Amino acid sequence: MSFAKASVRDAEVAGRRVLVRVDFNVPLDGGEVADDMRIRAALPTIGLLRERGAAVVLAAHLGRPEGKPDPALSMAPVGRRLGELLGIEVKQATGVIEGDIDLKCGALGPGDVLLLENTRFEPGETENDPKLAESLAQLGDLYVNDAFGAAHRAHASTEGVAHHLPGYAGLLLEREMTELTAVAESPRKPLVVVLGGSKVSDKIGVIDRFLEIADRILIGGAMCFSFFRAQGIGTGDSLVEEKGVELAAEALERAQGSDCELTLPVDLVLGRGFDADTERRQSDGVEVPDGWMGLDIGPRSAALYAEAVASAGTVLWNGPMGAFEMEPFAAGTRTVAEAVAAATGTTVIGGGDSVAALRKFGLDDRVDWLSTGGGASLELLEGKKLPGVEALLDKETPDKGTANKERTDA
Ligand code: ADP
Ligand code: MG
Repeated sequence: MSFAKASVRDAEVAGRRVLVRVDFNVPLDGGEVADDMRIRAALPTIGLLRERGAAVVLAAHLGRPEGKPDPALSMAPVGRRLGELLGIEVKQATGVIEGDIDLKCGALGPGDVLLLENTRFEPGETENDPKLAESLAQLGDLYVNDAFGAAHRAHASTEGVAHHLPGYAGLLLEREMTELTAVAESPRKPLVVVLGGSKVSDKIGVIDRFLEIADRILIGGAMCFSFFRAQGIGTGDSLVEEKGVELAAEALERAQGSDCELTLPVDLVLGRGFDADTERRQSDGVEVPDGWMGLDIGPRSAALYAEAVASAGTVLWNGPMGAFEMEPFAAGTRTVAEAVAAATGTTVIGGGDSVAALRKFGLDDRVDWLSTGGGASLELLEGKKLPGVEALLDKETPDKGTANKERTDA
């Protein structure tokens, strides 16, 4: 099933003002953008709109300012970085819907770019306040959502506004939807899913769905200890999510009755504490003695997982295999990352720390798709609908019934 929402490519934008929701939720360091991956990911949509003669008004959030202005979370550094990347002056507003917005919006010509202040400075943003959505809608003649990473939230700038303007999918959002949906709906087989990270509860929805679809699910990360606990295996001082134990037990039971093989590690790397300099040793099996914690999958497990990845038609990877931020416990994640990079099958990486791991190892350009959305990619993979996507126009009728919602004073 192909992505059914109207694309920005098919929108009439010349001479019009387009309100674009982007995901510029980037890490800052000393008042500058520390990592511009998400800004770069929005460039194709911004570039397309400018080329076609649109004036671009960008809306985005940064961090969690909780409904009031916070100078430390101003979009100013993001605007500067975007300006460098585009090679133009990016105009910046002092507010989201207030302040100098009308003046600055009115002065925009074709190809100009205006960046609004952090949408979460407005309390109505996360409450999806219809009044804020309406005010945002005044800023454009049409709306484009390219913020895949925020599309699982029904907020004023991601969902509400699309009830007041014809809404189109941006190029990034479209690609994310296509790549991630294809993994579940039309994967080349065998489909191998590698899941790690800290909590079972974060990923149980994905496990449940892929037990029905995948040929194999390989479990690593701290999450495996909920499974071991459920099997009555000692986990020592390992990080165990208590409510994950019950979920893991249920998943193990469901796996019994499915055609999907659920695989757990066969060996581990143990540490005395959660610390790079801690005493470390390899365990032969998976029983963790008291006084030790499992911080990585062991080499036999890593080799097993790498082999499964190598022979897969499609690989979906979400969540590191261990505490990879600490070099002594990064080997399992690195082995899996290298296998994913070398795989001949289609490789899709589902956001968050697994993307960070691939980038750390310099392998990020060797996979087929690296999602920009952590939570959004998980919800989509679980089979949930994303409110920020649902609110957009359907492909078949890109303009019908919406003309009356457009501004007449443009
Ligand atoms: P993702 O963002 O890719 O979905 P998560 O956020 O679920 O992944 O989990 C990532 C975190 O899990 C990392 O910070 C990593 O250090 C931690 N982690 C992985 N394995 C272990 C482990 N065995 N013990 C403690 N923490 C772990
Ligand atoms: Mg994470």
